[in-house]
Amino acid sequence: MNDYVVAISEDPYVYKEDSGINIQENLNLKKGTRFELIKEISQGVCIHEPRGMVRIGDKHYVITLEPKYGWVLKREKLSYLNYEYSNTDKHKYASAVNNFGVTQQMVDHYLTTYVKEDGSLKSDIHRLNRHRDSDLVVFINKIVQDFVDEDMRQFEASTHSKFYLDFYLMLSLYKPRRSQRFQGKITMYKDHQALLDEKETAFKAGRAFSIMFPYLDAAQIGIMVDSYRTMFAPREFELHTSMESKDFVWAYKHEHCKYQDPDTSMTRKSLAVSCMRGSGFDHLDHHPAEFYASGDFMIVWLTTHDGFIGARCVVRLPHIKYSTYKKDGVLQYPFDYDVVPHIAAPVYGTCDTSINMIEEYLDSIGADRSSHFGGWLGAKVLALTNGHNDRYFGAYIDIEPRMLSRVGKYLIIDDDGDLSAEDTGGTVGNYYEYYCYNCDQGLDDYDQHYSEATGNSYCETCYYDIHTTCQHCDDSCLNEDIITAYRRSTRIRTINETPTREEYTLDMDICTDCSENEFVYCEEQDEHWRYDDVQHIEDEGIDVPIHLLGDSGFKETEDGEYTREGE
Ligand SMILES: [Zn+2]
Ligand SMILES: [Zn+2]
Repeated sequence: MNDYVVAISEDPYVYKEDSGINIQENLNLKKGTRFELIKEISQGVCIHEPRGMVRIGDKHYVITLEPKYGWVLKREKLSYLNYEYSNTDKHKYASAVNNFGVTQQMVDHYLTTYVKEDGSLKSDIHRLNRHRDSDLVVFINKIVQDFVDEDMRQFEASTHSKFYLDFYLMLSLYKPRRSQRFQGKITMYKDHQALLDEKETAFKAGRAFSIMFPYLDAAQIGIMVDSYRTMFAPREFELHTSMESKDFVWAYKHEHCKYQDPDTSMTRKSLAVSCMRGSGFDHLDHHPAEFYASGDFMIVWLTTHDGFIGARCVVRLPHIKYSTYKKDGVLQYPFDYDVVPHIAAPVYGTCDTSINMIEEYLDSIGADRSSHFGGWLGAKVLALTNGHNDRYFGAYIDIEPRMLSRVGKYLIIDDDGDLSAEDTGGTVGNYYEYYCYNCDQGLDDYDQHYSEATGNSYCETCYYDIHTTCQHCDDSCLNEDIITAYRRSTRIRTINETPTREEYTLDMDICTDCSENEFVYCEEQDEHWRYDDVQHIEDEGIDVPIHLLGDSGFKETEDGEYTREGE
């Protein structure tokens, strides 16, 4: 109750009351006399007359007013503190706080909220979004830094920045924000009384800065005002629409104007978060946004006067939807149709103004901008093949479902489609972990065949087209590294009902490793033979398959060597 006193709007009657309290008579109460109301008394001689027990100084009174005047409550003027927390030589950084007016209680509350026991600042004090116009506070914070004495804004773990303590206290009192009604003005509470009365004032930027920073000189305030105008100038955009491929690409790819943190929702998004923006797709043959240029969509975009993109939105053009009502499997109204209006994707923008402007345009053409599920079902986009099977250049589709089916030269947005447009890498379709190096077929881990020799993955068919398994060591090798070689083997054949053991020659595919280590090249036969199956002829320096020694004219000598007859 300390904040309030009762003043009397007209001269009252003062009665002596039998209330057990020492009532002083002959009180000279006049209109406007201030006193503290202890309690209002409703019962009495005349119930129509409001009466109250009051204290003036240390004396109690009961006063009665004519019914028509009643009690007038007024806030008591507070006694303000001379806040000198950052008491420097000049006291200057605390001056805005003192000009506003703070009580001890307010200062105590502030300090306990933001200063730790060891005297250092809690990091929470720098959380700019707790201010009601955080963009403005970010701006002010940034620009004022340049004008503040270096030693006053030092951060150290053990000591706190005196400047910041005063700076944020000042902001929490004046609560500045950009005016919504008066373009360019700054709305704030001019002093503590205005805050109590909830009366805000919209000041010109220069005036507002002078109030908040009384320690800055005119030139510094001038710099702030100029920067403020540049930063927060109302933006003017020009709106364009097109169905052409190059314009889809331009609107997606061209540089944006500066971001001003727009309010976002399901249908309003900041361009800063769009994964499809910018020049990240330059390496692709087609920009992903090109696929919208199918004739079913248009791009709506804004440019600034200096040519930057302010916002964009992809919109499905109106389309005809025929009745699909069936009875016993038969279409009942095959010629009935509805014309469905434009259906917009979420609007991506750099600021509220730009998003609002596109939304207004969409409203003006009667577009549905709820981005509801299924709004784009049946619409077609271009099937821009990118070499891989089942894979096309295309953007992440903003409206669900994000599934597509290939129909001729188009992809149709289709809930049951087998191609996905959820990828933000610039392509849509089925994504495989591997693609056959040879024929580009998409492959999962279990059906890809990796070649040690080439370092590439192949489908099964292509793999075995170019690889052969060495029948000696079982390694899989490139065909060019495989040769035919021979060895002798035995088998049992039944001849005239008698099982007979016979030798025969087996040809096999072997790798070059095996041919060098386990096989021998026989010059006369021009064949590779297994090492165990050949005889080395010292005399001639050649190797001959053992079973061919006789046929080739070799005879074994007494010392186990072989020589050719007659030599
Ligand atoms: Zn293949
Ligand atoms: Zn081998």
